[in-house]
Amino acid sequence: MRFRFPPACLSALLALAPAQGVTAKTFDIYFIDVEGGQSTLLVTPEQQSFLIDTGWAGSGMPGSKPGDPSQSRDAKRIVAAAHDAGIKQIDYLLITHFHPDHDGGVVELAQLMPIRHFIDHGTLPAEAQRDAPTKDAFESYLAIRTKAQHIEPKPGDRLPLRGIDAIIVTSAASTITQPLAGAGEANVACDHPAPTPGEPFENPRSTGVVVTFGKFRFLDVGDLTGQPLFDLACPKNLIGPVDAYLVAHHGGADASDPATFAAFKPRLAIMNNGLKKGGAQVTYETLHHVPGLEDVWQLHRSEAAGDQNFPAERIANLDESTAHWIKLTANADGSFRVLNGRTGEWKNYPAR
Ligand SMILES: [Zn+2]
Repeated sequence: MRFRFPPACLSALLALAPAQGVTAKTFDIYFIDVEGGQSTLLVTPEQQSFLIDTGWAGSGMPGSKPGDPSQSRDAKRIVAAAHDAGIKQIDYLLITHFHPDHDGGVVELAQLMPIRHFIDHGTLPAEAQRDAPTKDAFESYLAIRTKAQHIEPKPGDRLPLRGIDAIIVTSAASTITQPLAGAGEANVACDHPAPTPGEPFENPRSTGVVVTFGKFRFLDVGDLTGQPLFDLACPKNLIGPVDAYLVAHHGGADASDPATFAAFKPRLAIMNNGLKKGGAQVTYETLHHVPGLEDVWQLHRSEAAGDQNFPAERIANLDESTAHWIKLTANADGSFRVLNGRTGEWKNYPAR
């Protein structure tokens, strides 16, 4: 049996079909495995690149120094993600704070790929400089930073990216004081003082950013812990609900405060933990009880978490022998999907 459409009906059907070669613009985020450091590559709908942190230097072992970029571990992983995204340069690099698991990879990355603008909170306090690897990595970073444009944004400032809205919410231990649009309600989970940060000098100075694409919102605060992280959530919620929250400080114990999750109300929590770094058991205890949280994605299985780890299909690397990323692709209507680079499987999250 054959169907024949009247011409008017056929042209209506053709009008509904997407034009060939035209694809909807998306906002992509690669959570790159740098073994418990941070490196997160954001690609705007206009194909601008916004990299947040660069992982470690050299072989990635604590204390390792920048060397031959072709032998680098983390800078090469960043380049692999950039190539996957069709990116040939880093338009904006945000260094959340000056610890070697965040700024260590920059020397090698700058030799593999042009970096056009550096964004950070400026200086490293004297107390933090007492740690030799931290001081060395910061000085190496400064030598690179002076060769390009440098932006030192304050809380409330917007970054000059096109197609997305990137607003700085914390920097150098200060935070926004007025709630972002859609936030500002009292947080009933704030019945305690700010948790003590594991490292009191530089982590609480992390630069944090909320990136919005249409109805989709992403929060990345680096290793922000202590009073400034608490101030974003308590006593008033200054951030409002986000779709994806990169759990602060790699999911360390000082980022486990349920009050922060009550404020940010993430659909998805992503942890850039290593096998033995971040991913504290107490954080898992919180994550297993966050109302409205649909999934937790881990860059690594956490040894400390034992049977509290989330299911393997949400974990990109089960041990230290692989370096798979987690990729999130967001649409302007707020829907998104997430790829486990290890399994090749996507999971869809419909618009709310
Ligand atoms: Zn860190």
